[in-house]
Amino acid sequence: MRPARALIDLQALRHNYRLARELTHAKALAVIKADAYGHGAVRCALALEAEADGFAVACIEEALELRAAGIKSPVLLLEGFFEASELPQIAQHDLWCVVHALWQLEAIEQAQLHKPLTVWLKLDTGMHRVGLHPKDYHDAYQRLLASGKVARTVLMSHFARADELDSPASEEQLAVFEAARQGLAAECSLRNSPAVLGWPQVPSDWVRPGIMLYGATPFEVPQAQAARLQPVMTLQSRVISVRELPAGEPVGYGARFVSPRPTRVGVVAMGYADGYPRQAPTGTPVMVAGKRAPLIGRVSMDMLCIDLTDVPEAGLGSPVELWGKHVLASDVALQAGMIPYQMFCNLKRVPLDYCGD
Ligand SMILES: *Cc1c(COP(=O)(O)O)cnc(C)c1O
Repeated sequence: MRPARALIDLQALRHNYRLARELTHAKALAVIKADAYGHGAVRCALALEAEADGFAVACIEEALELRAAGIKSPVLLLEGFFEASELPQIAQHDLWCVVHALWQLEAIEQAQLHKPLTVWLKLDTGMHRVGLHPKDYHDAYQRLLASGKVARTVLMSHFARADELDSPASEEQLAVFEAARQGLAAECSLRNSPAVLGWPQVPSDWVRPGIMLYGATPFEVPQAQAARLQPVMTLQSRVISVRELPAGEPVGYGARFVSPRPTRVGVVAMGYADGYPRQAPTGTPVMVAGKRAPLIGRVSMDMLCIDLTDVPEAGLGSPVELWGKHVLASDVALQAGMIPYQMFCNLKRVPLDYCGD
């Protein structure tokens, strides 16, 4: 059996969820969209269900997968519905629904529903992606109330630059939010992972941690609270071939690496078809037989090469951690010019194994 695996530590997932709560004293929706950022949405939801205040996903298809698996907690659709025809199912399955555009508000006003909805009314505070314009916000809130279709409303917005701890943008977005929600007696929700970890002054009755649940920092620089996260995924494999090369020999496609000294090359069963980034350059660390060693040459589809010259105890069959508790996914992402979100979501072909249940 090919040894490439992603081991998912559910105990670490729960630790990170509890950290989000501890830092904010708020209710927390665990964001498990995109198959829990590649970690397996159903398994992650089941592991958190006993303590989580709810979950958040991107669309009704993702939410129904959770309901089919027996998840009873609230599930928020972060983009609401894409077509009005989804509304009856949203009500039927007790899903919570973001309203980010006026056409969605109109669709709710016109819908025939047997149960009232819970709506998270999204304000565009400066990211300019989705969300209502501040001038429309009060009126939209009143229309929801008057529609008779809505039992509960939460006021929400989303930060564009909360991962930049020295940027004034988040404070500016907060000011727009505070002005727009004046006089509206409803709960609010602003904080994503970087805001949970780095912006303690931002109010939020509900927080929406995503990447931090998986133990990866959203910041490019060290940050005290992010240092308390526990990595959830260990992407692992084994050395499947070892060869000794004299100095001056190329390794891999395009001869992108030429041995500068006599070199012991290990081949690892892991490639870009598994989601390991092809852009990861020579020098990107892996952990082999308990020591750090550098990637060398181009990452291929199913294999990659590492330099074992300074790890003589490593050999055929040695375990390799591509990222996990020792080599942080965020460090690999920095090397590859990516973000950990993207690396996790790119994961494919490797079976997911679970521990810590
Ligand atoms: C994905 C998402 C989140 C989670 O973001 P992280 O940076 O992963 O914490 C929170 N809120 C909304 C609206 C999202 O789409």
